[in-house]
Amino acid sequence: MIGHRLRLQLLVGTQTALIIATKIYERIHGAPEQFWVSWTYWLPMAFGIFLALYIYRLRCRTCHAHQVMRGASIFDLRWPDERCYSCSSPMTGSTEEAEPIESHTKPRVRTSNDPEFWKKAKRRRNLFFYVWAGWLLAGFPLTTFYTWLLYPADQMTAGMAALATWGAFWYWTLYYLTRLRCVECGEKAFRHPFFLMRHARCSNCGVIRKAG
Ligand SMILES: [Zn+2]
Ligand SMILES: [Zn+2]
Repeated sequence: MIGHRLRLQLLVGTQTALIIATKIYERIHGAPEQFWVSWTYWLPMAFGIFLALYIYRLRCRTCHAHQVMRGASIFDLRWPDERCYSCSSPMTGSTEEAEPIESHTKPRVRTSNDPEFWKKAKRRRNLFFYVWAGWLLAGFPLTTFYTWLLYPADQMTAGMAALATWGAFWYWTLYYLTRLRCVECGEKAFRHPFFLMRHARCSNCGVIRKAG
């Protein structure tokens, strides 16, 4: 399990790499005419939206303090720590059985043998990624539709409307995953879709899938 700080650093690194890679690609192959249906535009854009949401949702479960946006100005941005900067309760694991991080006792691992729950988690996680990638297919017909609907609006407006529609649908898939309740503790089990099924665990009680 990697920490919040490293995970956020990896996400920010990926965002930077995506922007640089797409700029280089456009420099070599020429900028596309309809930039909003080009993957070089929507891929860093979609990732950027995800990153912003991820940062927004990095809050302490005890006192609800934002861990990255610690104030109103850009100078109040900080990397998150493993403990809340405000009330110092741990950011991972259950809030009730909070253990000091220095503790060397092996945490008890609870498993759930409800295959339906894990199947649902996998389906909803996959849906998020399918919809993300699905913009490649949906972008053009949606833009065409909005060009017709918003006539005589320009292509730019139609493209933006198409992107906003798809973005709303994409956000819904994130909501659909995060509202899934854990079979063991009944709390919301996943806070983001970036997990492998073999590492999947409830973000509240830490229950994992029974092996085999
Ligand atoms: Zn706190
Ligand atoms: Zn749980």
